[in-house]
Amino acid sequence: MTELRRQSLTAYGMPLCETIVACPQPQGSEVLVRIDRCGVCHSDLHMQDGYFLLGDDKKLDVRAGRTLPFTLGHEIAGVIEHAGPDARDAMPGRAVAVYPWIGCGACPACRRGEENICAASRYLGINVDGGFASHVLVPHPRYLLDHAPLPASFAATLMCSGLTAYAALKRLKAHAAHGPVLLVGMGGVGMMGLALARAMFAHAPLVADIDPNKRAAALAAGAAAAFDPSDAGARKAVLAATGGGVCAACDFVGSERSLAFAAGALAKGGKAVITGLFGGTFTMPVAMFALKAMAIEGTQTGTLAEAREVVDLARAKKLAPPPIGERPLHEAQSALEQLRAGRVLGRLVLTA
Ligand SMILES: [Zn+2]
Ligand SMILES: [Zn+2]
Repeated sequence: MTELRRQSLTAYGMPLCETIVACPQPQGSEVLVRIDRCGVCHSDLHMQDGYFLLGDDKKLDVRAGRTLPFTLGHEIAGVIEHAGPDARDAMPGRAVAVYPWIGCGACPACRRGEENICAASRYLGINVDGGFASHVLVPHPRYLLDHAPLPASFAATLMCSGLTAYAALKRLKAHAAHGPVLLVGMGGVGMMGLALARAMFAHAPLVADIDPNKRAAALAAGAAAAFDPSDAGARKAVLAATGGGVCAACDFVGSERSLAFAAGALAKGGKAVITGLFGGTFTMPVAMFALKAMAIEGTQTGTLAEAREVVDLARAKKLAPPPIGERPLHEAQSALEQLRAGRVLGRLVLTA
């Protein structure tokens, strides 16, 4: 019997540790994927903590809905090892990226193809065992996406950071036709957003980050200009550079300050999309929404169709992957710690 080696969450707030069980046999339409790469995402930190910070010392408890030991990791690429009797088209040996945002399949959101916002989700690495492991069980082959010639590490990161950035930027498409988008936060998702914005929009994006190294990396990756939002004059500098503000902004951080900066940089009629989950509380005088004719929208990852779109876009536009640092699976905990310390440029990916 093949072993399933996992870097498991055995208690919230505690380091991951290795657990070994027998590899499950895929039943019905299930497919067993041998994992080649799995990205490390900020959400993994929140899952390890057991909560998201909501601001004003309020926490969103996320400990319900999974049993411990649990396997985190939702940016998965691997090779099909076995398929259940109802998944015969899933040929063993095929290299695939795994769409992790799997829903119940029955609710209204799932029926309109938005499994990523299902209320009874079965997300891999969030509700169901994920990718910090040697293998993952996927409920149906439709969640497996061919990614050649993209390398597995890049394909893996497209399933969360890439997909999240893509789905957010898609919601800014009409606004982005009028001028450069402002991308706030040049972490893993933000850097992916920068590459995608360059491929999707006519104007090179503006970026903002408090870290000078991240600003430099963004400029090297094709940002038109980079701003330091902790600089008191940054908002005015964006307004000056754009003749009165941007029409579209994306907040990849999701903090009080990042959203205040993104919303403050909008021109009249502008729109900001939030993907980040950093935490905090945002306040704005209600009348400003009408007076500025502004929109603020939240988005969570993306649909299966959007996952296919972003893989196709990455192939067609020969998108350069963001900086990717690879670490062996058994170093999952130290990878999480590096991310927590904010010391990661681009993305960390665990290798089999
Ligand atoms: Zn993620
Ligand atoms: Zn559902």
